[in-house]
Amino acid sequence: MRLLNRLKPMLLWFDAKSSVNQDETENPNKLGWSQVTPFVFMHLMVLAVIWVGFSWIAMWTAVALYFIRMFAITGFYHRYFSHKLFKTSRFMQFFFAFMGASSAQRGPLWWAAHHRTHHHASDKEEDPHSPRLQGFIWSHCLWFLSPKNLLTRTDKIKDFNKFPELRWLDRFDITAPLVLIIVLYCVGSLMAAYYPHLETTGAQMIVWGFFISTVALYHGTYTINSLAHRYGSRRFDTPDDSRNNALLAIITLGEGWHNNHHYYPGSARQGFVWWELDITFYVLKIMSWCGLVWDLKPIPIEVQKEIARK
Ligand SMILES: [Zn+2]
Ligand SMILES: [Zn+2]
Repeated sequence: MRLLNRLKPMLLWFDAKSSVNQDETENPNKLGWSQVTPFVFMHLMVLAVIWVGFSWIAMWTAVALYFIRMFAITGFYHRYFSHKLFKTSRFMQFFFAFMGASSAQRGPLWWAAHHRTHHHASDKEEDPHSPRLQGFIWSHCLWFLSPKNLLTRTDKIKDFNKFPELRWLDRFDITAPLVLIIVLYCVGSLMAAYYPHLETTGAQMIVWGFFISTVALYHGTYTINSLAHRYGSRRFDTPDDSRNNALLAIITLGEGWHNNHHYYPGSARQGFVWWELDITFYVLKIMSWCGLVWDLKPIPIEVQKEIARK
């Protein structure tokens, strides 16, 4: 019975609403092993590349899935669910929520609610991930391993919490990565059978397309909470430490203009001048021409005038 109780937190891997380990919530600044274990597992699985080997098709799948899922995170988890910077249909809302969840960064409601908390209290005590207050490593990849940030802050995301399909995805967020793994295995196995000259297998496609791509995507995303609050330039004198960083804008498809974003989080575009590369915004713009999204919130005239004065 005692063993069963000890194993109970593992249920969290499959059901984000299952009971939380009491010992862990009593020490909120410690890390919870039920959260640390899958995170370490993801990194260890990268080493499986030693056994499955390399193929160009597997590598390009990893690159493509990095950028497609980065767009789901930046365009939808961030600019749509966290900040409501454009409108879209209920189908697209769920489709990109599912794509975002396949990045294994928890569900859209959990992600957006924590991000809203970050904006409400950037680099202040209630900020879940401030490098100024809690240290660089915490802001990069420890904050979400702490039991105090385990549950979805539903009070912060009442607007999207009313959709049952999003509540389902947020609760069973493991579904999306599992579906991706199954698809990769099937595609890899079919290619091994019908196109053996591509030299890939189901296992190789999983290791490259899921594990390597997802771990790269993890650290790409995390840089915005860590590096973009420490290294780069500050166009605007915001109360937080946010920075603009061109390199981070490349690897995160436009999120590196983080000082712009903290100064004015109400714009769908985060690159405020023409040379500030913001791929997420360009893709959203193309999607708006196709009628897939609409009402993209612009950079206000006052902000544009302020930039021109600087
Ligand atoms: Zn934001
Ligand atoms: Zn920030």
